[in-house]
Amino acid sequence: MAQPPTVLSRALAARIRDVADFPKPGILFKDLTTLFKDAGAFRDACDALVAAYRDTPLDLVAAIESRGFPVGGVLAHQLGVGLVPIRKAGRLPAPTASAAYSLEYGEAVLEVHRDAIVPGQRVLVVDDVLATGGSAAAAVRLVRELGGVPVAGAFLVELRPLRGRARLDPLPVTVLVQF
Ligand code: AMP
Repeated sequence: MAQPPTVLSRALAARIRDVADFPKPGILFKDLTTLFKDAGAFRDACDALVAAYRDTPLDLVAAIESRGFPVGGVLAHQLGVGLVPIRKAGRLPAPTASAAYSLEYGEAVLEVHRDAIVPGQRVLVVDDVLATGGSAAAAVRLVRELGGVPVAGAFLVELRPLRGRARLDPLPVTVLVQF
């Protein structure tokens, strides 16, 4: 569903750089480094996601590599819960669970440490951009495989034409900026 633009969403959108044909021809890449380096925009974005989950019982934030890490780190800190990295294949040192997925520009595998989530723990999945939803859906599968309870997905940006939200349905999704 399209969200009506807000003062915040317009301000954040203005801080996001479009890079055409990256990392492949035909992809319009939403570069959030220009938002992250703006102290006010980064703070306001994180504050808005924190506010959305302040009253939701949570045990963990699971942040997807790599641009989910800065946002997930702030959310975990501000919400007073632990942080679990969901990483690309081969990066985590201890035994892992893995999930294959396809994204807007390729195929990939995400992994999580098998002992990262205790069964029953309530987990907020966080990334910068919700595109096709493949990586977020894989992260949700990993949370479930370890016995965790995915509570919601939180993203700075949603690329609506790619219908990633449908891949997460019926999980609630919070996004700050839609394109
Ligand atoms: P997806 O799995 O298709 O939802 O892709 C989401 C992941 O890929 C996120 O981690 C994004 O950082 C990245 N991504 C995919 N497409 C784009 C895009 N057009 N612009 C920026 N990041 C993207």
